Amino acid sequence: MTAPTNWHQRALDLKPESKIFINGKYVDAASGKTFEDIAPHDDRVIAHVASADAEDIDRAVKSGKKVFDDGSWREMNPRDKKAIMLRWSALMLEKKEELALLEAVDTGKPIGDTLSVDVPNTARVISWYGEAIDKRYDEVAPAPRNALAMITREPLGVIGAVVPWNYPMMIASWKIGPALAMGNSIVVKPAENSSLSTLKVAELAIEAGLPAGVFNVVPGLGAEAGQALARHMDVAKIAFTGSPAVGRKILQYAAESNMKQVALELGGKSAQVVLNDCTDLEAAASAIGWGIYYNAGQTCSAGSRIIVEKGIKEELFAHLRKFLESFAVGNQFDPATQMAGLVSKSQRDRVNSYLDLIGHDGEKIIFGGEKTRGADLLIAPTLIDNVKATSRLAQEEIFGPVLLSIDARDADEAIAIANGTDYSLAASIWTGNVAKAHTLARRLRAGTVWVNTFDMVDVITPIGGFGLSGSGRDKSLHALDTYSALKTTWIALN
Ligand code: NAP
Ligand code: MG
Repeated sequence: MTAPTNWHQRALDLKPESKIFINGKYVDAASGKTFEDIAPHDDRVIAHVASADAEDIDRAVKSGKKVFDDGSWREMNPRDKKAIMLRWSALMLEKKEELALLEAVDTGKPIGDTLSVDVPNTARVISWYGEAIDKRYDEVAPAPRNALAMITREPLGVIGAVVPWNYPMMIASWKIGPALAMGNSIVVKPAENSSLSTLKVAELAIEAGLPAGVFNVVPGLGAEAGQALARHMDVAKIAFTGSPAVGRKILQYAAESNMKQVALELGGKSAQVVLNDCTDLEAAASAIGWGIYYNAGQTCSAGSRIIVEKGIKEELFAHLRKFLESFAVGNQFDPATQMAGLVSKSQRDRVNSYLDLIGHDGEKIIFGGEKTRGADLLIAPTLIDNVKATSRLAQEEIFGPVLLSIDARDADEAIAIANGTDYSLAASIWTGNVAKAHTLARRLRAGTVWVNTFDMVDVITPIGGFGLSGSGRDKSLHALDTYSALKTTWIALN
């Protein structure tokens, strides 16, 4: 038997790539500046990451534009493009352990998650869009017999992507996959907390045969590098995932520069509606537990509110307590761990500030609820009962392992509460009644609705929301449309 991997030791031995990746090469920032990347689990500086400013963004966009204009990717035979994307995906899987470790060290996630979810899903997204390249057809319009009218999809040019730290590689892949499949170039600005995995993936792109300049990674501060990318006059579209506050700024930057297209994916306050005809409260509790405590609640679609119809709350809470007995919380380097600490001290302080609100308006802790000042940034899975639907706790995105329970008299009130935030990313209903499931699913205002399940996700279906959750849609074949523009070509035949 081989000895178990000592992930912690391997983490200490990591020598991550930390320079900007432009035109197929790692380079320093023009200014020579760097920022410190801190490992959340031990506060250690893992890397001094090159800190891009407007000059570096300009270099990256220029290299993306050059390769777009010379057509070496855009005009490549679809079959060859597909082969490169598939090779890139395969290389990610070959380097799975290294990528998973980089992602874990950088974000504090459990190594078991990055090995089984983050890396394989990123590779799947890239191969899935690679496969789509030679299976997508354009259209011929029903024009009069004396003409041919073609409707084709043309790539936009250079895409800018500004992405968050909660699923660094995965969320980046949701932009990279469809953008490259349609023939665009891309410049990715990772979050300060989490640049390392995407920087490593860049090198693999070149190894797979992607022409230099098609894929660039430009780490840096949001207000500097992110802003410069969103304001760049040669960026055709900016694809953003993160907070509504920054999303608003991105819209403004686009308006004040070249009116580039903007896609926003901005988080949520997703409801799990549990009705008293739910036939399996144990299954519901398990899905509810995973839905909020996975990734320590740092998921845009996290099911952070349960809305429980009268009569079943005590039984549901008992099942949730039972769920936690076998839910492993702790050291991120133990492959059995299912939930570890938060990504950063500032995220911990943010979650603590919400825990401070408990009890101000009759809220009651069922379990967890303690703030942490600890270096491990670990906040215990928390359940708070008696939360008012209109309170700050129930309205604002906490982004931590904090589940709120809100009472509902009946299904109608439950749906009204579920729809009663400015977010609309996802929601679920638990009921044994098929007709009710259909009618209530229609009434839920959310980009994704689950019935008797939560968090079933794959690249095959779109994700995105309404209102404060943004309006962009990542994933699925529909995303290809969002990285291209329709072109009409009329040809006279007589
Ligand atoms: P954020 O500030 O919106 O950051 C997301 C990305 O935008 C990062 O790459 C960030 O760079 C960049 N950015 C920041 N300011 C910018 C600016 N002025 N112009 C252009 N880009 C800019 O989100 P956060 O601070 O990481 O998290 C705050 C909250 O946002 C969370 O607590 C959560 O509620 C929400 N959030 C949602 C999602 C989601 O999946 N929808 C993901 C993460 C966070 P820096 O890293 O350098 O700041
Ligand atoms: Mg980090």
